[in-house]
Amino acid sequence: ARLANQIAAGEVVERPASVVKELVENSLDAGATRIRVDIERGGHKLIRITDNGSGIVKDELTLALSRHATSKLKTLDDLECINSLGFRGEALASISSVSRLTLKSKPAQQNEAWQAFAEGRDMAVQVQPTAHPDGTTIEVKDLFFNTPARRKFLRTEKTEFNHIDELLKRIALSRFDIAITLTHNAKVVRQYRPVSADDAGAVKRIAQVAGKGFASQGMHLQSGDQGLYLHGWIMPQQTQTEPQYTYVNGRMMRDKLILHAIRQAFEEHTQQAQVPAFVLYLEVDPRQVDVNVHPAKHEVRFHQARLVHDFILQAVQQLVASEQTLIPQ
Ligand code: ADP
Ligand code: MG
Repeated sequence: ARLANQIAAGEVVERPASVVKELVENSLDAGATRIRVDIERGGHKLIRITDNGSGIVKDELTLALSRHATSKLKTLDDLECINSLGFRGEALASISSVSRLTLKSKPAQQNEAWQAFAEGRDMAVQVQPTAHPDGTTIEVKDLFFNTPARRKFLRTEKTEFNHIDELLKRIALSRFDIAITLTHNAKVVRQYRPVSADDAGAVKRIAQVAGKGFASQGMHLQSGDQGLYLHGWIMPQQTQTEPQYTYVNGRMMRDKLILHAIRQAFEEHTQQAQVPAFVLYLEVDPRQVDVNVHPAKHEVRFHQARLVHDFILQAVQQLVASEQTLIPQ
């Protein structure tokens, strides 16, 4: 079973940022409103995520670390209509199979905190009492210590840390209500404070993430049709930070179809290849998208791809047509 975990780990755990992604998504699924991410040496040495979420009861600590144990899918119907970010139940198992992982947790309804420790391939999870406030801390040390081939693919501390920073920017733009703190080698690097879920909040959060210029100069888009709703900000001229972020039902996605539609609208209008910067949110009926395409869940498949593409194309076409500033000099 541990070998299977290591194979699965290859898909889910590519680098420190993929560990951070899985762990932060778990924190969000657990209803956390405050998440702290501590990184040492680009994540090679330590990745620690602390949240104030619902926690894991003592009896489920070991289960949380085993493969295909998820508390999030209850019926087959859930698979069609997934609301939580994780649902495969393999992230913790995969991560612990290639690291030294400590899981500490205290649900509010439980008086004491407990911790579980798992190291590498042998799945002898030790459970013992510990001290922890309500919520969960997961500490991942010495990533890939037992898989030298994979460790070789780790880049410099700085590069790996940049990937983590970039990932947290994307997450910060998907959940305005969450406070996120990021430290590297014990120094605070980012501090995203909670903002309201409306446009005013979005502008503040985007300013925290992508700089003030983007949110204040970006064109605001808002368009709905046939069960699809698109809103967000587009900046025709590239900014220094050049964010190109898209979210589908609140999940960050790197979707070719969406990107293609945006580009096409811009190129038609300006008659030149142009890559705008954007932060866009698309809402679709969850039954119309399949998020189960790739284990790392960056990709979606739309059941009605053409419809979605053309809807986005039109929405952006209308926006750029209304903007004088876009006419090329
Ligand atoms: P999945 O997220 O797909 O269910 P994971 O391996 O990521 O699988 O996590 C396994 C289980 O551990 C989750 O289903 C959840 O019950 C529990 N869990 C993991 N992280 C947390 C957390 N930060 N807070 C509360 N529960 C958690
Ligand atoms: Mg998960």
